[in-house]
Amino acid sequence: MAPSAPKLSVVIPVYNEEAVLPALFQRLYAALDALEVDYECVFVNDGSKDRSVALLRQQFERRPRETRVVLFHANFGQHSAIMAGLAYARGSFIVTLDADLQNPPEEIGKILGKLEQGFDYVGTIRLKRQDLWWRRSLSKLMNQIRERITPVRITDQGCMMRGYARSVVEALNQTREVNTFIPALAYLYAMNPIEVEIAHEERHAGESKYSLYSLIRLNFDLVTGFSVVPLQLFSMVGMAVSALSALLVLVLLVRRLVVGPEAEGLFTLFGIAFFFIGLALFGIGLLGEYVGRIYAQVRERPRYVVEAVLESDAAAEDDTERAEQERYPSAPEEPFALTPPAARAPRTAGRES
Ligand code: UDP
Ligand code: MG
Repeated sequence: MAPSAPKLSVVIPVYNEEAVLPALFQRLYAALDALEVDYECVFVNDGSKDRSVALLRQQFERRPRETRVVLFHANFGQHSAIMAGLAYARGSFIVTLDADLQNPPEEIGKILGKLEQGFDYVGTIRLKRQDLWWRRSLSKLMNQIRERITPVRITDQGCMMRGYARSVVEALNQTREVNTFIPALAYLYAMNPIEVEIAHEERHAGESKYSLYSLIRLNFDLVTGFSVVPLQLFSMVGMAVSALSALLVLVLLVRRLVVGPEAEGLFTLFGIAFFFIGLALFGIGLLGEYVGRIYAQVRERPRYVVEAVLESDAAAEDDTERAEQERYPSAPEEPFALTPPAARAPRTAGRES
């Protein structure tokens, strides 16, 4: 690693957060200064349409040494933004954080402490989670499902404030998955994980960037990305239903011969038929979720496209050197003619890793 790399990198995805950024800057930098370690904050603007970019630029000018800003040209989603932040982070320890101050930056010290003790993955459990009740119940249900059908053993998958050692981040950087769920993926790469409890606050300002629809999408990413049990479950249900209906045919046949024809129970039949049609449609949809992801993956489009990076010259030089020496012995070509300096091309290219 280059000698001037900071000890701690804090990665923060930002999407339309103008209402909260000023408060975030104030609390985050104060908390990090108090730690008295060499640090950098890597903000990734995920295609915000409000004044977030202007505010990030302002903060960069205020603290150029400790601030780097990666600008996407469109909205690629929180997890893609974090992946980009991880690719740009240079610290030996990396902490990811939401911009909305739901995870108090004052807790970074606790996570850093565990990383320094040699744990390479510091998961978090939100004490007294401050979210809407339906979000909490949905999240609880998804935690239980994930615990049963994937090898990922974490208590509170939803909390994005987590700490990773460089080794885990290097593994994440090499992952080519288009749709992913970072806390789960990182867990698979961790050799020595631990969990700590942290405080949780209400969103400081602005609104949640997740609608029910995008939450469902995200949870499909989690389930399909780490398990094929849902598909197998459908094969099992299909087999059971086939066996039962074979039995029913037998019963009806005997009845037809012994008792005679029957025409009652029409609506019961509808009820049963609709139930199975629903189940079959869900099965096809589920299959589509997997197939769609395979399609997204084989197209090999870039997971994100970086429009520009704001960083001080020292950081850029250091980074270029690092990219050349360590990661990209043969750099892939840059398919997008954007503005990043030529030396950075590999990081923004389709095969960014
Ligand atoms: N975010 C993002 N891209 C998106 C949606 C969200 O970068 O498409 C960021 C957002 O700015 C915030 C974090 O991801 O920093 C978590 O979002 P939010 O707080 O709205 O989610 P919630 O806490 O409601 O789950
Ligand atoms: Mg939030």
